[in-house]
Amino acid sequence: MTSDPNCLFCRIVKREIPASIVHEDETVLAFRDIAPKAPTHLLVVPKRHLPKLSEAKDSDAPLLGTVLGTLSRIAAKEGLTEYRVVVNNGASAGQSVFHVHFHLMAGRAFAWPPG
Ligand code: AMP
Repeated sequence: MTSDPNCLFCRIVKREIPASIVHEDETVLAFRDIAPKAPTHLLVVPKRHLPKLSEAKDSDAPLLGTVLGTLSRIAAKEGLTEYRVVVNNGASAGQSVFHVHFHLMAGRAFAWPPG
């Protein structure tokens, strides 16, 4: 599996850095955001290192589909029926960790459009 030793989320996947993990399977890891922006704020990531959504290839479509499907099941397991899913792609869009991740946020009302 592709992994970057300098990537924070790869290091969480490898348990080199602690996190509050809520789900793990062969392909996907989900853990609580360390600085939550909502009462529930999870990060759902592919275990394989992929820096940005915009770098995904057609061959990554099954992986990304699996991550999203898993996110939906995690949300259901957490009892969430309404939630926001966000992917920041690139620094100006708010991406600070360059390992693709889906923010799953719930538990409050969300404004639209986001800032
Ligand atoms: P983004 O800004 O979209 O790249 O999101 C990165 C997210 O990772 C932010 O919401 C951070 O709060 C979160 N984060 C950073 N370090 C950690 C960590 N060690 N454990 C859990 N979440 C983290």
